[in-house]
Amino acid sequence: MVNGLVILGGGESGVGTAILGKQQGFEVFVSDFRKIKETYKQVLIHHEIEWEEEGHTEAKILSANLVMKSPGIPDTAPIVVRLKEAGVRVISEIEFAATYTKATIVGITGSNGKTTTATLTHELLKQGGLNVALGGNIGKSFAEQVSEGAYENFVLELSSFQLDGIESFAPHIAVLLNLSPDHLDRYDYKYEDYIASKFRIVMNQTKDDYFIYDSDDEEITCWLNKYPIKSRLLPFSVKKEIKQGAFIKSKEIIITIDNTNFTMPIASLGLQGQHNQKNAMAASTIATLLKIRKATIRECLEKFQGVEHRLEKVLKINNVMYINDSKATNVNATFYALDSMQTPTVWIVGGVDKGNDYTELLPFVNEKVKAIICLGLDNEKIVKSFGNIVDMMVETQSMEQAIQEAYRLAERGDSVLLSPACASFDLFENYEDRGRQFKRAVRHL
Ligand code: ADP
Repeated sequence: MVNGLVILGGGESGVGTAILGKQQGFEVFVSDFRKIKETYKQVLIHHEIEWEEEGHTEAKILSANLVMKSPGIPDTAPIVVRLKEAGVRVISEIEFAATYTKATIVGITGSNGKTTTATLTHELLKQGGLNVALGGNIGKSFAEQVSEGAYENFVLELSSFQLDGIESFAPHIAVLLNLSPDHLDRYDYKYEDYIASKFRIVMNQTKDDYFIYDSDDEEITCWLNKYPIKSRLLPFSVKKEIKQGAFIKSKEIIITIDNTNFTMPIASLGLQGQHNQKNAMAASTIATLLKIRKATIRECLEKFQGVEHRLEKVLKINNVMYINDSKATNVNATFYALDSMQTPTVWIVGGVDKGNDYTELLPFVNEKVKAIICLGLDNEKIVKSFGNIVDMMVETQSMEQAIQEAYRLAERGDSVLLSPACASFDLFENYEDRGRQFKRAVRHL
């Protein structure tokens, strides 16, 4: 191939990269080991982009000048190994697309809270009058939006997999929300490697850029002590006073950047829970940096109701609130869900265990959980971890059944919380399917 760009994976980021690549004069070839979704095939055909599915034509792929690997494909996939052996450059969509835009980029990463914070930040900047798009691991791909050439600012949700494939990508504002073990199967089960991957977000930043991070997170501060970075640090904390950055004092968020101050009572935040106070601090630090008016920031933070499947209040029935937190696919996310519960709780938990350690949940379960409904094919670990501290525990293997049990066990004033702390693939297609089934079953009560 002359000026050949091969794209591995025909999903959102692959197809977006194909469109941008073609526009930039590359000879583009999309190759997917699985079937490509019909809607994406139509887009490729429309743009006259060559593609194949259910296999890789190795010779053609190896002849590429540049390869974009979709984030879902691990480095250990045979075709990727072969490409690296052959010395072909393999990058991610983010690296590729960033080359073709001069927009100001805000990059948001972390183990939990990325979608919530990126969505909130996008809202703040949009309401503040900036010409801004939201992309990365969320909605329409960054690459396709770059091809539209219309945006002056991007808010990007960045996974560690996207960051693994960058070389020169440098967001003007980088955010690291928190660190907790996740996706370790892709990092040889080495937590250090996963952390290093998250920190790639700052590796190309200069002293004119900013790094916003949770300074209560020991893993983050430890890493920063070991590996100092060039960009200007703007930490946030719920525990201690911060001179430049954000913190909470007397139930107020206080942000200071140079001589600019922003304050807002946490009681008026649309989203409750300590984790959301942190998300709000990160997002409003960004908005303050980008000079959004204080009144606009306050109004947006008051109105923001969160994202589907993240502590989403579904319905109140017989004075019992049903809450969908299906996106809590790890223990840390569930930690904050239980932390934010203000009533006795019937907790629906379980699914595919990713090597979970439930110890940190024990105090909350002791204090707030009156019944546990296990929802998974294998519930042994949950039964073992909580069997002794919760009076009522039932095992279920469908959402219908789980909701029926929850309805039976919950009393006026209680909450029913789906916060699984596990992946969903044993009984559901994905976390969205699980969340939708939850809502459907609740609405049918
Ligand atoms: P991500 O995009 O990183 O997966 P989401 O915003 O989709 O993050 O939220 C995933 C889960 O984590 C949800 O259950 C949500 O309630 C919880 N969560 C949101 N923000 C935080 C945070 N700052 N720390 C811990 N958990 C969080």
